[in-house]
Amino acid sequence: MQALKKCESQYTTIVVRSWLRPRVSIDWLMRAMLFDNAGEPLRLAEVTKPAPGAGQLLLRVHACAVCRTDLHVVDGELTQPKLPLIPGHEIVGTVTELGDGVTHFRIGDRVGVPWLGWACGKCGYCQNGQENLCDLAKFTGYTLDGGYAEYHIADQRFCFLIPDSYRDAEAAPLLCAGLIGYRSLVKAGSGKRLGIYGFGAAAHIVAQVALYQQREIFAFSRPGDEEAKKFALEIGAVWAGGSNELPPAILDSAIIFAPVGALVPQALRAVGKGGIVVCGGIHMSDIPSFPYSILWEERSICSVANLTRRDGEEFMALAPKVPVRTEVETFRLEEANEALTRLRAGKIRGAAVLIIEAVDRETAGR
Ligand SMILES: [Zn+2]
Ligand SMILES: [Zn+2]
Repeated sequence: MQALKKCESQYTTIVVRSWLRPRVSIDWLMRAMLFDNAGEPLRLAEVTKPAPGAGQLLLRVHACAVCRTDLHVVDGELTQPKLPLIPGHEIVGTVTELGDGVTHFRIGDRVGVPWLGWACGKCGYCQNGQENLCDLAKFTGYTLDGGYAEYHIADQRFCFLIPDSYRDAEAAPLLCAGLIGYRSLVKAGSGKRLGIYGFGAAAHIVAQVALYQQREIFAFSRPGDEEAKKFALEIGAVWAGGSNELPPAILDSAIIFAPVGALVPQALRAVGKGGIVVCGGIHMSDIPSFPYSILWEERSICSVANLTRRDGEEFMALAPKVPVRTEVETFRLEEANEALTRLRAGKIRGAAVLIIEAVDRETAGR
């Protein structure tokens, strides 16, 4: 009576049933937000709780941040998701079960799970320290189920211990906004004057690290977005303006977090000779053509793809030293659609985070 639909997931068969039906005490089920088709809202469902395989951890998810990449998935701009999919790749949870051969973690450890969920370890990229480019890589909340759920299965090799000084909700944005932001910052080189285009979750973390490194931040946001400007100045930017403006000083480098290709020539115009423009997102609208003169004099453009475990280890060690403080707006699991809508509209200050509370299955729904 309860089984409406059966479908293959990464690890197990998902049994989906209506959330509104009365429930009984079933500890093999978990609540999750499921993505079925681009352009449709996520739907709350009960699915089979996954079991950890060799080398995997079962985590009770406490918090999962909502990333712009999740928007690219649900809006159909990233076209190869597993279906149905549990989105979410900035997961903080406690280890509740160990698969065979797990040696890195123990039950009760609080760990984080990032976007890179699996890499082959054998291809040329993996062997060259570029596992972020692995041909066979799998991604949390995209080609693997993610953290918009009560439980999550993760490969122990791609999990990080969460520093004790962070609460669950504050730690979640470190897992992508922090990690990929950090990788973008490293790619931007060591120049003192750094421009940041798009002042959201990643920018507010990267800016703190850059300030710790004695750099100056020039923040660019949507023209007219006074809130974003104010936010950037509060964090410590020396200047904040519209993305259509030139900064008051020539920049050494710029990172573009907004998914707007037209910002690439804008940023090239803002950096000086030898300047680096880093595109930090997984998706961007087309880059308009531009005169060679703004690239000339050894300016360069590069993209950042995914992350490596080394990025994670370096950033997780650095974050408490800065210390990076994350500003979060929290939502309940079942409010994931609202969080995505607010993120799409540019209405989140800092990062949106889903808080996944335990549900008493004996009484819920009665
Ligand atoms: Zn992300
Ligand atoms: Zn590989």
